[in-house]
Amino acid sequence: MRIYDLPVKLLCNKHLQEQHDAIHIVRNAITNCEDSPETKRWKDNLWALGILHMRVVNEMIDRQMPHYDSIQMSKDCCNYPLLIDSIPDQINELMAMCNDCRVNQIIWRT
Ligand SMILES: [Zn+2]
Ligand SMILES: [Zn+2]
Repeated sequence: MRIYDLPVKLLCNKHLQEQHDAIHIVRNAITNCEDSPETKRWKDNLWALGILHMRVVNEMIDRQMPHYDSIQMSKDCCNYPLLIDSIPDQINELMAMCNDCRVNQIIWRT
């Protein structure tokens, strides 16, 4: 499972759905104390994971994709967790496997 740290608007419907499902899988894995790179990075940052879920769901609603579940939110504010792979690496990975995601439109400002 993989949670991308890219703007959700740029994901195609398939990868938006996958991003959504990965958030739930990671949230459940944290509850069950399972270990993986994603659970390690999110377990102390549940608030940020909840916000990310909200962003994804808002985008799904905009695209009229069904969404029925909810996620257990944390009240403790936190920062966004450290990335596993850099943003350019994530963009390259998605571009290599998907022609529909528009991640190549991310504009870099130096
Ligand atoms: Zn959900
Ligand atoms: Zn895609």
